[in-house]
Order: sequence, then structure tokens, then C-alpha cells
Amino acid sequence: MTVESKATSALLAVLRNSTPEIQQRASALDQDAQFPAEDIAQLAAMGVLTAPLPRRLGGLGLGTETRQGVPLLDLLQALGAANLSLGRLVEAHVNALRLIMRYGDARLQERAATAVHAGGLFALWVTDAQEPNALRLERGKGELRLAGGKAFCSGAGHVSHAVVTAAEAGIAAPRLLLIDLGKGERVSPLTARMSGMRAAVTGRVDFTGCRFSPEQVIGAPDDYVREPDFSAGAWRSSAVALGGLQALLDLLGGGLVARKRDADIHQRIRFGDLLIAHQTARLWLERAGSVAEDLAEPPAAIVATIGLARTVVERACLDGIERVQRSLGLGAFLSGSPVERVVRDLATYLRQPAIDEVLLQAAAHFIAEPAMLQKVLQ
Ligand SMILES: Cc1cc2nc3c(=O)[nH]c(=O)nc-3n(C[C@H](O)[C@H](O)[C@H](O)COP(=O)(O)OP(=O)(O)OC[C@H]3O[C@@H](n4cnc5c(N)ncnc54)[C@H](O)[C@@H]3O)c2cc1C
Repeated sequence: MTVESKATSALLAVLRNSTPEIQQRASALDQDAQFPAEDIAQLAAMGVLTAPLPRRLGGLGLGTETRQGVPLLDLLQALGAANLSLGRLVEAHVNALRLIMRYGDARLQERAATAVHAGGLFALWVTDAQEPNALRLERGKGELRLAGGKAFCSGAGHVSHAVVTAAEAGIAAPRLLLIDLGKGERVSPLTARMSGMRAAVTGRVDFTGCRFSPEQVIGAPDDYVREPDFSAGAWRSSAVALGGLQALLDLLGGGLVARKRDADIHQRIRFGDLLIAHQTARLWLERAGSVAEDLAEPPAAIVATIGLARTVVERACLDGIERVQRSLGLGAFLSGSPVERVVRDLATYLRQPAIDEVLLQAAAHFIAEPAMLQKVLQ
């Protein structure tokens, strides 16, 4: 069950009012592959960056407290509709703070909250794919050292803190660390630039030689891979992606009216189908957000539900891209136009881990657990 506080409703209203402004800045940011510093400052001033903190630490509990799944969906969807790259950066911020609040000790939690209240933006860098020199943790006398790096680091060179995974000799699961950035790590671009999501400024970070305190290790070795959180967190990326689909719906409707093609039967069918796909995906995400944030169901059921929701959202977005391109024709391919940019960003952002796997796992779960299946079907 969801409880949206007055403060959250007020925050969402301010954010939605700022959407046109953020959308207007998005084209230039995309063209220059520029970090959305002005947008992030505006979000910080609104209270979006502190919103994921638990209420006891001055936040709204979005992403860190139960019964906040739907308000968090509203927030992430609104950000995705404004600018997918901005949504991706904030989604990582939420994810990083959730990990700290779930597994970090009280001192680490307070340290993170203080940084966020001071305007800090947190990243989550956990991907080792395409990084030949994956990050490792080595223990020295009273301090820890890092060797290697991470690829696919959104916000690299701009965010203030990162939660990262690092391998430690003799321990099977990766360790989670909270790193203060700007202390000797080296940022470089990916070997080739991504076609979309350029304003998320996703690069490589080499931490070799960086030292930090043992107090910056978050939780126990298995915490990062603990289910259901490990898999369920993916619902938040889907929530941002849904915002991209919402933006495409707006652009499609506006584009059809502007060209006086909105009365055409084929155009209306495509628009109607897209609207249905969007709303279906939204309903799935309302359930996904509730089960993932409330953690009231068995872990396997939560993971399976998120897997299905992710699959629905990905399909809706891919179909949406096809329908929008077909409906607007070459107009949807004019480089730098809003629709071309949103399509490019959305197609890129939809590449999230293990999408084939999650459908198989979800199907296997619900076949094996008829009682859980009945719960979904009712
Ligand atoms: C805009 C953007 C920003 C990002 N920012 C960050 C960030 O800040 N931090 C971070 O940690 N990560 C980040 N990532 C990376 C992200 O978390 C995923 O790791 C990445 O998107 C996975 O993409 P992929 O499709 O290449 O995955 P893959 O897992 O390589 O999947 C590609 C295809 O291969 C299939 N496949 C996977 N494994 C196998 C296998 N063993 N055998 C056969 N087929 C297989 C999959 O099912 C899929 O069809 C970002 C990604 C994007 C798009």
C-alpha cells in the first residue's frame, strides 16, 4: 500500500512544473554530451536529491522506506519524461543511497546524508563488463587501497560520491564501498561514445592507487548480491524508461496535430495502441514498485514480479519507438530534434542487464509456485 506524504506531492508538483524548462535544455546537453549541471542544481534546490533519504535523516523516504513505491515511480517517471539522462543520474543516486541505508552502519548513513544535504550527487558503479582491469580492493595497515577501475560510470567526473563494487582476494562476492570522489581517481571517456544518453556522461574511472578508510566498506560481503534487492532494484530503471515513453506520446500527439494528421485512422490506431501500452506498463510498475519497496512478499516472488514488469516496459518502449517513427516518418529522424533525441536516448537506456534471463526466471517461478501465480492473476 502506498502513502504519499504532502511533502512528496508538493515536490512532484514542482518537478512537473519544471519539466518544459528541463526538456528545453535537453537538446543542447545531448549535442555537447554535457553533464546537466544546471538541472541537477535545480533538482537539489527542489529537494529531489534529499528525497531518497529516510525521514529520520531529513528526506522523504523515497527508495529507502516502505510504502513509497508509487510516489518513487511518479518521481522517476517525471524525471525520465523531462530528460532520460537526468532520470538515469537520479535513479543511480536513489539506488546508491538505498544500498547505504540498507547495509551501511549508522555512521556511514549519517555521512552520506550530510553529503546529500550539502548538494552531493551519488553514483552507483557496479558494471565490470568491458573493463579488462576490473576494480579490486587491497587491505593495507589501517587503510584500504584500490586497483583497477570501472567502465560505464554515469556522471563520471561530475558526481560527488560513488558506491562501487570491488573484488577482494579470498572473498567470492564483491564488496560494496562508498567512495568520496575527486581524490585521485582518473576519468576517461569510453572507447567509443554512446549514441544516446550522452548527457549522462558515462565514462571509465581508474581508481588505481586511491586509498580510503575501512569505515567506507558498506555491509557484509554478500549484501550487494542479496535478493530480492539485487534484482528488484531494476524496476527503478524501468520507471525512468516509462518517462521516456510518456515523452514520446506527448511528442507524437503534438507532431500529428502540427502536421494536421491527427484525424487519420492509422495514426489514431497507433496513438491509441501506444497509449494502451504506456498505461499497461504503468500498472505493472505500480505493482513492481510496491512489491520491491515494501518487501512484504517472498524474495523469489518479488524478483519474478520485477522480471515481468521489466519485460512489459521494455516491450512497450520498443513498440513505442517503432510506432512513433512510423507515424512521424522522416521527421522522427531529423538529427537533434526532440523526438529523434528521445528515441535515441530511450533505445540506449533500454539496454539493461539480463533481460532475456528475467523472463525465463519469472516464468519458471510462477509455474513452480501456483499460489503466487494466483496472487498475480487475482
Ligand atoms: C545510459 C547507460 C548508463 C549506464 N550507467 C551505468 C553506471 O553508472 N554504472 C553501472 O554500473 N552501469 C551502468 N550502465 C551499464 C548497465 O548497468 C548494464 O550493465 C548494461 O546496460 C548492460 O547492457 P548490455 O545490453 O550490453 O548487457 P549484456 O548483459 O551484455 O546483454 C547483451 C545481450 O547479451 C545477452 N547475454 C548476456 N549474457 C550472456 C551470455 N553469457 N551468453 C549469451 N548471451 C548473453 C543478453 O541477454 C542480451 O541479449 C549503464 C548503461 C546505460 C545504457
